[in-house]
Amino acid sequence: MTLKVCKFGGTSMADGNTMQAVKKIIQSDEKRKFVVVSAPGKRFNGDIKVTDLLYACYDELKEKGDCKQAFASVRQRFESIVKELNIQMDIKSVLDETEQRLNAEKSSDFTASRGEYLSARIMAELLGAKFIDSEDVVFFKRDGQLDGEKTYRAISSAVNGVEKAVFPGFYGKGADGKVKTFSRGGSDISGAIVARAVNASVYENWTDVSGFLACDPRIVQNPKRIKNLSYKELRELSYMGANVLHSESIFPVRKANIPIVIKNTFRPEDEGTAILPISQYTPDGNVVTGIAGKKNFTVILIEKNHMNTEIGYVRKVLSVLEREGVSVEHIPSGIDTMSVVLDSEEVQGYKLEQIIEGIKNDTEPDVIRVMENVALIATVGHGMSSSIGTSARLFKAMAEANINAKMIDQGSSELNIIVGVRNEDCEKCIAACDLELFGC
Ligand code: ADP
Ligand code: ASP
Ligand code: MG
Repeated sequence: MTLKVCKFGGTSMADGNTMQAVKKIIQSDEKRKFVVVSAPGKRFNGDIKVTDLLYACYDELKEKGDCKQAFASVRQRFESIVKELNIQMDIKSVLDETEQRLNAEKSSDFTASRGEYLSARIMAELLGAKFIDSEDVVFFKRDGQLDGEKTYRAISSAVNGVEKAVFPGFYGKGADGKVKTFSRGGSDISGAIVARAVNASVYENWTDVSGFLACDPRIVQNPKRIKNLSYKELRELSYMGANVLHSESIFPVRKANIPIVIKNTFRPEDEGTAILPISQYTPDGNVVTGIAGKKNFTVILIEKNHMNTEIGYVRKVLSVLEREGVSVEHIPSGIDTMSVVLDSEEVQGYKLEQIIEGIKNDTEPDVIRVMENVALIATVGHGMSSSIGTSARLFKAMAEANINAKMIDQGSSELNIIVGVRNEDCEKCIAACDLELFGC
């Protein structure tokens, strides 16, 4: 039988009512056999996600040696969910055990992982399904990367003969035997891992929007829904801030050509968005598929006469960054100029000064300047490679909105155009480009 893996995000797990909606979705299709859940998210504007409450627990734990006070809010969230669901579950004992283990382990990753652990325990109870702890089936290697082979083997043997199972997202076990989490939003990756391990026919990612939208709905009202997205477009857009899906979630499913479908838990009848390999993908007919933006980059601009003929110049600049352990996001270049775009978080404080000194010493540039607080806006779409004039339209829209482009970079595959603007122009720029390209 073809089977589906379903991942439900934080808003879908927020309270008893939303969990009932999840149950209904799972029960409406017998192919929905394996479920991955996030920790309860926000119930209303201004509410706090359980994962954030748990990070506050860890802060208290570090300071006082226990987290009694902060854990009280976590307790309350889960106790009220169980009460709303009206299920027979001794949640008090599970919470007591959890608190004891938090105090004993004193680990940030372990503490943060308990939101998913507890919500999966509850969902398993609600569905009458088996709870499979990701600590026992998702493994990381010594370098922090997923140990795919070991993980896929463990999951497929854990589900052998199991009718329905629930896995907590977001965590697994590190090479040191301790619980380790993915980065924030990582339950999307867990869902993709389970889908790959059980060779699912589809990975359904259930969230609170009816699909991947052409741009962030928090910036533009009612953006256009994207019907079809290729894995590559997804990767570009999610990496650049469209955080409806974690940018790493394509890797496990891409190798097995498993499509991802984004669906809305609160409007399950809506079609959503299908993310497919390029071979199965039928473009919507739009030149541009979507726009996304991310703030807080640092750009180092380097000028040197005859840079283009100096053999090894770019390598020398990049060696400085390698020595400092900093990864490079983009390298736009001209004849006698190059820029390196870095994530500002990676070059905080003295690190940036060391990099500048290193580049000055090793490459003797004529001019070196630093631009901070830069936002990058990515316009993404396979359609751009066979169409003329997209950048002209973007720059016209930006000029009309009085936004200065600090940097421009177009990938050689013509899949994306990246412009750098001031952080404070980020939202305005996205809205202006969206209006020009999608007319809404
Ligand atoms: P979940 O808790 O279900 O994992 P997330 O909050 O991580 O949900 O992701 C869903 C949210 O992503 C949406 O509510 C929306 O605000 C935001 N978002 C940002 N960019 C986009 C986009 N391009 N399309 C859809 N949603 C987006
Ligand atoms: N709960 C985790 C977070 O808030 C993981 C997730 O929701 O995907 O980041
Ligand atoms: Mg998410």
